[in-house]
Amino acid sequence: MSFRAPVPEYEFMLNHIVDFQQVTATERFAEATEELATAILTEAGKLCDEVMAPLQRVGDLEPSRLENGVLRSSTGYAAGWNAIAEGGWIGMSAPEAHGGMALPMALTACVNEMMSGACLSLQLAPLMTQGEIEALSHHASDALKELYLPKLISGEWSGTMNLTESQAGSDVGALSTKAVSNGDGTFAVSGQKIFITWGDNDFCSNVCHLVLARLPDGVPGTKGISLFLVPKFLPDENGDAGAANSLKVVSLEHKLGLHGSPTCVMQYDGATGWLVGKENGGMAAMFTMMNNARLGVGGQGVGVGEGAYQQALAYALERKQGYSESGAIVDHADVRRMLMTMKADLFAARATLLSCAVAIDMQTATNDADWAARAAFLTPIAKAFGTDTGISMADTGVQVHGGMGYIEETGAAQFLRDVRVTPIYEGTNGIQAMDLVARKMLDGGDMANRLIDEIEEQAERGRISHPNMAESVWQACESLREATEWLVAQDTMNDRFAGAVPYLRAFARVLGGHFHLAAAMKDPGGPREKLARFYITRLLPEHASLLAHAQAGAEGVYALSLEELGV
Ligand SMILES: Cc1cc2nc3c(=O)[nH]c(=O)nc-3n(C[C@H](O)[C@H](O)[C@H](O)COP(=O)(O)OP(=O)(O)OC[C@H]3O[C@@H](n4cnc5c(N)ncnc54)[C@H](O)[C@@H]3O)c2cc1C
Repeated sequence: MSFRAPVPEYEFMLNHIVDFQQVTATERFAEATEELATAILTEAGKLCDEVMAPLQRVGDLEPSRLENGVLRSSTGYAAGWNAIAEGGWIGMSAPEAHGGMALPMALTACVNEMMSGACLSLQLAPLMTQGEIEALSHHASDALKELYLPKLISGEWSGTMNLTESQAGSDVGALSTKAVSNGDGTFAVSGQKIFITWGDNDFCSNVCHLVLARLPDGVPGTKGISLFLVPKFLPDENGDAGAANSLKVVSLEHKLGLHGSPTCVMQYDGATGWLVGKENGGMAAMFTMMNNARLGVGGQGVGVGEGAYQQALAYALERKQGYSESGAIVDHADVRRMLMTMKADLFAARATLLSCAVAIDMQTATNDADWAARAAFLTPIAKAFGTDTGISMADTGVQVHGGMGYIEETGAAQFLRDVRVTPIYEGTNGIQAMDLVARKMLDGGDMANRLIDEIEEQAERGRISHPNMAESVWQACESLREATEWLVAQDTMNDRFAGAVPYLRAFARVLGGHFHLAAAMKDPGGPREKLARFYITRLLPEHASLLAHAQAGAEGVYALSLEELGV
């Protein structure tokens, strides 16, 4: 199945929906003109369509494997990585001083998203490396930056992120990997990490692991964690990959999907590492990487959704069943409902993602606390809604195919298998939602209410041209405001947590209504207005049931005893 990167859609989003112009109006990003953005998206689109998309099925059929301790990637992945590296796509938003392009995150988010639609397994390799580049840029010593950043940015070396241990998943603070000083500025890192994406490969001359570990005086929990850079090969005096470090891939996981992406159990046996950031400051440094990765993972959901939609539409045009004008299933009302739902949700999730990326860029460009708060608030929504939408779209894509969706040759099932992990990694979507209603509401709901005010302001303007749609969005906002007030009034955190996931989804639904209304106002009588009407009439109303759920408190979720649950 071919994939076409939706370049015109990104252009419309950036120019008309998420106000990318305010990013390019800053001194920091003045060079990212509309023409440059078009050139970049077009070029990246060609790479996705011509180089990455053909690798999607190969990785599924021919998974990466471990042969006598040596990792062998799927056929064609090395060439795919090299093409990504040569295009400069790994370092798109990385500092220019080290060979990056210093472009806005909004453009990187578009490129990462289209790469995910083309081949998610391979896309994970540059995504992990980008996260490492970001963490090192902000927290590493100048010496580490000088040595590692140019090689990571050029793709000569790759990066990974090592948090998870068997007893420390969501609870990162439970980790037991240790680091002790070697007395020469380096540390000996020992422990086992599981589920490490692209923990090794056969296309880079070094793999640089960012590893969370505890120093001897590190207190229990997240406050006693430090971050270390632990390369597969120790750099020699010229800065090239030298002697092997004391680490290895023990095994690869057998997974539901993402077969082209090796998920490694890593063993560190006194491996030499360098501290990144301050002692016991590992979580702060890791959060830099995780926030970047959360946006990236939200984009994975959206990208896979795009791929699933393109394939479902193509199949619906081709498959003939029952009576319809053309004879093809695309003319049946229920099939149209599925395609319209996919397209409308795709727009909502993509707009939410890119508006978060714009907030991150504005934060970078202005150092303004309001932009930082906005980016922080939108990140869990972009991650969770993007990935949930990826799953629902891939699932609907299978349904559009009927029985052929369940048969592997079509590729529809692969989208669903591959994307299924995205609400799990980078902080499960449950953890994202808890973050939204707790940490992101330490301001008493101020940021949430400011976003709601903005949505209502646009709805007020929209009343002139689109009174019914604007009224629906406005009413949904009022319900969201009430639910927000209810949430922040709950002192018992579990009352917030029990409704966190439905609250996050309701917020995303309302944001989706907001962005669709904006599109309708730009395209009166046109297809975007029609799609907006579909979303606002049929999908936005879901917010009401979600908000009822969000405000029901914790008691009901504990209503059944463990015995009554079936223990
Ligand atoms: C394919 C794949 C690739 C991965 N890549 C990486 C990687 O590169 N690097 C890395 O470090 N890790 C990686 N991971 C690990 C991933 O980040 C974890 O799986 C994830 O953080 C969840 O941890 P867990 O699996 O231990 O689940 P658990 O933490 O055991 O969670 C199980 C369930 O309990 C819920 N839960 C847990 N704690 C709470 C709480 N306090 N409140 C409410 N609910 C809670 C969760 O939401 C979830 O539904 C990867 C995982 C997979 C499957």
